[in-house]
Amino acid sequence: MADTTASPTTTRAAVLAAAKKMLAEGLVEGTSGNISGRLPDGLVCVTPSSVSYEAMRLEDLVVVGLDGTVVEGTRAPTTEKDLHLAALRRYPELGSVIHTHAVYATMFALAHEPIPAVIEEVVVYLGGDVPCCAYRGTGSVALGDEVADHLADRGATLLANHGLVTCAASPEKALHNAALVERTAKIVWGARAMGATIHPLPDSVNRDMAGVYSYLRGNP
Ligand SMILES: [Zn+2]
Repeated sequence: MADTTASPTTTRAAVLAAAKKMLAEGLVEGTSGNISGRLPDGLVCVTPSSVSYEAMRLEDLVVVGLDGTVVEGTRAPTTEKDLHLAALRRYPELGSVIHTHAVYATMFALAHEPIPAVIEEVVVYLGGDVPCCAYRGTGSVALGDEVADHLADRGATLLANHGLVTCAASPEKALHNAALVERTAKIVWGARAMGATIHPLPDSVNRDMAGVYSYLRGNP
């Protein structure tokens, strides 16, 4: 189960901190991207629509039910909330979802090509290759379902012609996963640009480390 020991204030602060860090790390530009965090009472704190990350304050965050009903807040929730809520509804062990338009990851999303798990830490933190969802319209319920399908045994998935979604037990860990995906996409892109042959990890390593991912996801 998600961490329910943190107070709502702490979870909200973690969502806000991750939002600002996501911008600082260059994983988003402008007001694109969004973050959710599951509150101890089961409601979900999400970033608002169309508020800059520099100016964003705790009171700008919006609290919604798992069905998307706004429970608290004066702002409109992110228009992409369905992809967060679909994943949080389906996987009770998850505590946070992050969506970004990170450049290198999105290059793979344009190609509808998975980012290969050719670095050990990718398998440990993400469970394996980062798959790519079929194209569905931005903000649609169908995109949410597609994302949830792809996060069953993975900590990240690409959105075709759009961007990246990561998940974890907390906003801090979901942001770590987003940075890891972007770094890996950049490394794979660079290795290909070198004309290098990219060698896969041994099957036994993939199997063992995917087992570690599965255990850690179920026991956050
Ligand atoms: Zn988006």
